[in-house]
Amino acid sequence: MAGLVLKDVRKTYGEVTALQNIDLVFPTGKLTALLGPSGCGKTTLLRIIAGLETPTRGSLSLNGNDITTLPANKRKFGMVFQSFALFPHLSVGENVAYSLMISGIEKRTRSKRAQELLDLVQMADFQDRRIGQLSGGQRQRVAIARALAQEPDVFLLDEPMSALDAQLRETMQVELRLLQQQLNITTIVVTHDQREAMTMADEIVVMSNGVSEQIGSPTDIYQRPETPFVASFIGKANFLDGVVRGGRVYAGECPFDLEKPAPFVDGSPVQLVCRPENVDLCPVDGTVSNTLSGPVTFVRDVGPTREVFVETSAGRVICEMPSSEATSVVQGETTGVRLKASALLCFPGQATGAAADPTAQTDDQRENVAA
Ligand code: ATP
Repeated sequence: MAGLVLKDVRKTYGEVTALQNIDLVFPTGKLTALLGPSGCGKTTLLRIIAGLETPTRGSLSLNGNDITTLPANKRKFGMVFQSFALFPHLSVGENVAYSLMISGIEKRTRSKRAQELLDLVQMADFQDRRIGQLSGGQRQRVAIARALAQEPDVFLLDEPMSALDAQLRETMQVELRLLQQQLNITTIVVTHDQREAMTMADEIVVMSNGVSEQIGSPTDIYQRPETPFVASFIGKANFLDGVVRGGRVYAGECPFDLEKPAPFVDGSPVQLVCRPENVDLCPVDGTVSNTLSGPVTFVRDVGPTREVFVETSAGRVICEMPSSEATSVVQGETTGVRLKASALLCFPGQATGAAADPTAQTDDQRENVAA
C-alpha cells in the first residue's frame, strides 16, 4: 500500500505500555498531526517511525516495503526536534550545507543547493549569521531547511513550534503548511496543541493513553467526535448525564431528540455532548424537547462571540453566540437553552447512578466547559 503504514504497533518500557494496537496509514503527500495530552505516546510513535526506537511488536512499511528493522540513517526521513538541534558554531549556510554533505551531495553543488533551501524558508539573507544571532522563528526555519536538505521521503516534526511565542507560532504554522503543500511531502507533526493540529493537518490522529482514539480530517474530528475524550480534547463541549427511558434519552427530566436514535436499551446511562455554538437561548418552556432552563450564572465576551453559562437541572450548559445576538442576557435571570438535535451526540454513560445526579460531571469536563 502507498504511504507509510503501521500495523499493530506496540511499545512497552518494562511495566509501562507507551503504545498499543496502533494501526495507521499516513497518506503520501499529506500532513498528519499526532495530537494528544502529555504522556499519550506521541513522541514514542514518532521515534518509532523515525527508526530511533524499535517497536515491541508490529510492523512499519513505506510504499509497500517493510522498514520495521531498517536503521534510522537508512530511512531517508527528515526530522525537526523541539530544540531544533542546530550546530551553534556553524553559520546558517554551513548548518544546511553540513546536512547536504551527510547526504553525499558533492561540494560544488552544496552551497547552491543550500542557497535554494534557504530561499525556500525565506532565510537566504541570513546565510552568514551564527545560529546564536537568530530569533526562535528564524532558527526554526533553518532547522526545516536542514531537514529538507536530505530530500526526505517523510518529514517528521516533534512539537516544532513549542519554543516560539504565540503570535510567531501562528505565523509559522501557516508558513509550514504552505511549504508542505508546495513540496507535497508526506509529513507527520507531533503536537499537543489542538489549534496547531487544526491549522496544519489534512488528518489528525487523536491519541490517549497509548491508543489512537480517532483519525479524521479536522472537520470530522470537531463535528463528529467518536468518543467523549475526543469531544472534550478538541474544542469546547457541554456534557450532560442522561438515561434512556421508553426508547428516548432524558436529561434533567427533559426528553431529547437526536438525529440518530441512541442504540441503547432502556435504563442505560448515557452522556449527551453538544458544542456551545449548537445551543440556542430560548424562552423557558418545560414542555419542549431538547430544552432545559436555569439561571444565567456567568456571561463573558470572547472576541466576537459571547458565552452564556446556564446552570440547568442536568448540569451546566454553555451557549455561545455572536455578541450582537445576546445583548439582552442578564446574569441571575432564568433562561431556556435548546440543544440542536442535529448536533447532539450520545455516548454510553457511567453506570454508577450518574444519570440521576446532574452535577456528576468529571472535573475534566467541568474544566473543559469552563475553559
Ligand atoms: P509529551 O507531550 O509530554 O512529550 P508524549 O505524548 O510524547 O508526551 P511519550 O514521550 O511518547 O508521550 O511517552 C509515552 C509514555 O511512555 C509515558 O508514560 C512515558 O513516561 C513513557 N516513556 C517514554 N519513554 C520512555 C522510556 N525511555 N522509558 C520508560 N518510559 C518511557
